[in-house]
Amino acid sequence: MATEKTDLHMHTFYSDGYNSPERLIEKANSQGIKILSITDHDSVNAISEATGHAKKFGIEVIPGVEISTDIRDTEVHILGYFVDPDNKDLEHYLNFFREERHKRAIRMVNKLNILGLNITIDDVLVSAKDSAIGRPHIAQALLAKGQVKSFFEAFYKYIGNHAPAYERKVHLSPQSAFKIISDAGGLSFIAHPGNMPEILIKELIDAGVDGIEVIHPSHSPDQVKFYRGIVNEYFLLESGGSDFHGGKYYTSAKVVDTMRTRLVRNID
Ligand code: AMP
Ligand code: ZN
Ligand code: FE
Ligand code: FE
Repeated sequence: MATEKTDLHMHTFYSDGYNSPERLIEKANSQGIKILSITDHDSVNAISEATGHAKKFGIEVIPGVEISTDIRDTEVHILGYFVDPDNKDLEHYLNFFREERHKRAIRMVNKLNILGLNITIDDVLVSAKDSAIGRPHIAQALLAKGQVKSFFEAFYKYIGNHAPAYERKVHLSPQSAFKIISDAGGLSFIAHPGNMPEILIKELIDAGVDGIEVIHPSHSPDQVKFYRGIVNEYFLLESGGSDFHGGKYYTSAKVVDTMRTRLVRNID
């Protein structure tokens, strides 16, 4: 049914979400979601667990991933849908990106120590465990250690994009992410383009991106219209999701059907 509640951007504790895959499915079910995609940063580890659990509720899980790339200092997140979670090359790349995130977390902790804050990498690993370590885990650790009064203070004083303890992630071009995703059988989407200069969007379209995340909580109604216009103009695919951890429904099953059509064309 084309109107089924669908959320194509969700995170679990395998990246910077709070829920286990099981809990995420239960929350999504309680909201009436029928189709969802787990798009953890640099990890597909949640997918098999979630898929097994989702069957009990009649929920469909679209395998997904979110990969950070950059073009000339602008960070661009790329969503991959319908990737094969067992693809060996994908696993190899995601392992590498997670290792790089771990090294980056160590660099950020060093900078925080130089700034006089009491925090170790082990404090960060308490919340990050085996997941793809991100700044939210560092913010959580700073809060737990009483080094900041709020999660947001950690960002604006220390680890936000222009703050003193910020460190960049590994450099990866969007084109490389497209290749990793398509070699694993998936489709690439520009995630939440809300603040991205239009010229970059055009560049990514020229580079072969399959679609754009049109619906996202950070997009105004005008932006949704604008990105949908681009999708139609360039014959791209549309996606949408909550980028949240408990699940909201933000798009429809119709966009998933259209993605499938494109996948079939790619195989031909
Ligand atoms: P990372 O991938 O490690 O660079 O972490 C990025 C994540 O940190 C984003 O997806 C947000 O969840 C969070 N984040 C980034 N900037 C802020 C901010 N200023 N306030 C709160 N959370 C933020
Ligand atoms: Zn995230
Ligand atoms: Fe993102
Ligand atoms: Fe996300």
